[in-house]
Amino acid sequence: MTNLLALRPRPTLRVDLGAVTANVRTIRSRTAGELMAVVKADGFGHGQVDVARAALAGGATRLGVTSLDEARPLRESGLTERILSWLNPPGADFAAAVRLGIELGVPGRDHLDAIARTAPGARIHLHLDTGMGRDGAEPAGWELLCRAAREAERHGRVRVVGIMGHLPCADRPGHAANARGRDRFVWGLRVARAAGLRPADHHLAATAATLSDPASHHTMSRIGAGLVGIDESGTVRLRPALTLTAPLVTIRSVAAGTAVGYGHTWTARRATRLGLLPVGYADGLPRLASGRAEVWAAGMRRPVAGRISMDMTVVDLSADAAVSVGDPVTVFGPGDHGEPTTAEWARWAETLEHEIVTGLSARLHRRNAA
Ligand SMILES: *Cc1c(COP(=O)(O)O)cnc(C)c1O
Repeated sequence: MTNLLALRPRPTLRVDLGAVTANVRTIRSRTAGELMAVVKADGFGHGQVDVARAALAGGATRLGVTSLDEARPLRESGLTERILSWLNPPGADFAAAVRLGIELGVPGRDHLDAIARTAPGARIHLHLDTGMGRDGAEPAGWELLCRAAREAERHGRVRVVGIMGHLPCADRPGHAANARGRDRFVWGLRVARAAGLRPADHHLAATAATLSDPASHHTMSRIGAGLVGIDESGTVRLRPALTLTAPLVTIRSVAAGTAVGYGHTWTARRATRLGLLPVGYADGLPRLASGRAEVWAAGMRRPVAGRISMDMTVVDLSADAAVSVGDPVTVFGPGDHGEPTTAEWARWAETLEHEIVTGLSARLHRRNAA
């Protein structure tokens, strides 16, 4: 029964967890600091708990997520490593965080006060805005925040175990915001020390800065994109971990002049055969990639014909391709055989690879690669 199900062709997203482990090893070789595996957004769409375990196997020692809702399943799956959650409203259940041993990012006084009041014993990381203009405490209030945190520490309400920042332009190593952000972070550490805080963790760099800017490393890096093979720095070869295949549901021969799909945006210039794939934008293939995207079928790149629709994509197989109904087509993969990559899909859709991998839908059947 199980075998029959496994053989039944359907759109399948294969996740190569070995690639995640290898990527962590590669990144580890580039920094002396600890690595926190950032497994937010379901491990960048690759499966949160699996990616966490694979990253730990490669030498990551910590886990990081946005909200407490993302942190809880990690703990409940039995992982005992330190976990940091840095994005919660001040009314979140911080007491539960303490019970589960989850550390908390603190971007300002509202959070500090709420945590000190409701979650005695919380281990916190003060978050300084190092140029994002998004999350983190503004420099103007940093000294007061550090002093208030020290006061709460003296009363045994919290323990400040870390200071964190985040760089906005780390994918462009020469950008002036990087030096400014690094300087501001060092200033922030000095102010924290002067207030009497002695946090052991200082972390500023994410994937791009870790790979391209050693001056940003401090005691730890927070690695998200790099786990799953996205290297914005262009300095190492990381390995993509996803392969999406879909079976040909139908194949039809059409005459020159046949128009295809919604809006008739594509017309066959010659007699050809069209293959129908049962995946579309509801599965996470961006509609904007219509007219540009390609897939890999019978050993060749084949263009998508017409608009990607909600559940279907049509492929121009050419008149002579040796393919049959039911054959698997590779929509994207690591690129080893010439198949498109998620980086190419991102280009076709005028977006980032991050958005492609985190936008793949739950409707796709997922399997971990052996
Ligand atoms: C997502 C995120 C990271 C990981 O960044 P990558 O560039 O994906 O490695 C690190 N820190 C914070 C605050 C984040 O939100």
